[in-house]
Amino acid sequence: MRLKIVAGNWKMNTTVEQGVALSQSLLEQISQVPEDVILAIAPPFTHLYSVYQQIVNSRIALGAQNCAAYDKGAYTGEVSAAMLASVPCKYVIIGHSERREYYREDAPILNKKLALALQAGLIPIFCVGERLEEREAGRHFEVIASQLKEAITVLTPSDFSKVVIAYEPVWAIGTGKTATSEQAQEAHAFIRKILAESFGVLAAQTSILYGGSCKSSNAAELFAQKDIDGGLIGGASLQADEFIAIAKAF
Ligand code: PEP
Repeated sequence: MRLKIVAGNWKMNTTVEQGVALSQSLLEQISQVPEDVILAIAPPFTHLYSVYQQIVNSRIALGAQNCAAYDKGAYTGEVSAAMLASVPCKYVIIGHSERREYYREDAPILNKKLALALQAGLIPIFCVGERLEEREAGRHFEVIASQLKEAITVLTPSDFSKVVIAYEPVWAIGTGKTATSEQAQEAHAFIRKILAESFGVLAAQTSILYGGSCKSSNAAELFAQKDIDGGLIGGASLQADEFIAIAKAF
């Protein structure tokens, strides 16, 4: 049995006050979400402790959107995995396409982040996905395979068993263009195959989330696919009703 997870990536949105109000609305509606679905939220760093205090003892899990590639010291402006674990956060998103693109996060950086997150006891949600030009050139499988091989298949089986993967085609993120359920299922099955080549049966236990303009109107069809175990939700996670409706779509 794989865990079903719907995780909200708030990105750089909301003030602390707005974030606390959003998590309060989620708390009020969480009972509508099936018991076997994990609902997680990843607010900005500044909000984490206030949101934690609000959702503590609830079914809502807390995550962060990023962590530093260093453990501590003179890295002005950075937030370490151990600091996130001390909030406490449960999840951390690593390798989001916005981090890869705008902050030049490449495999050596992502490998350090993964190692530090795992060492701190966090569950990494590791993102992979091709750009539009790579899909149009028919290179999407090659791109996804190399992102997995650089960072994930090099992990020990014990570390790998803790990781959640998110397939996020870059052309679908924040564009309103969702991958069709067939395209998403095809990519998820491919990801599971690559993982199984290195980790055998463990790959059958890995939760693989879809991300990219997922909303309540398309979530049910996406989540019904055999290898789609939930979603990483950007824009639609900023509205409590919509985010809850997505989590109810299982
Ligand atoms: C994301 O950035 O992880 C994402 C899936 O964004 P959106 O849902 O807004 O496309």
